[in-house]
Amino acid sequence: MAIEYGKSGKIVAKRFTLEEIEQASENMTGFCRACGEEAACCEPDARNYKCEACGARQMFGAEELFLMGAVKA
Ligand SMILES: [Zn+2]
Repeated sequence: MAIEYGKSGKIVAKRFTLEEIEQASENMTGFCRACGEEAACCEPDARNYKCEACGARQMFGAEELFLMGAVKA
């Protein structure tokens, strides 16, 4: 998944479906909000971990994603 940039040059944070987040919670994986890559062995409460795919510190655990409202409506 490509990284999107807004007009201000900031990374546009990705959103994930509730299903994706539930799956990630069960599998102990997390998602990168910059590129959308799924990461294995990510604690549910992980925050700002480094993404192996894009290098951004935008990797979050499933519970954090849910709490921060990164759920697709
Ligand atoms: Zn990434």
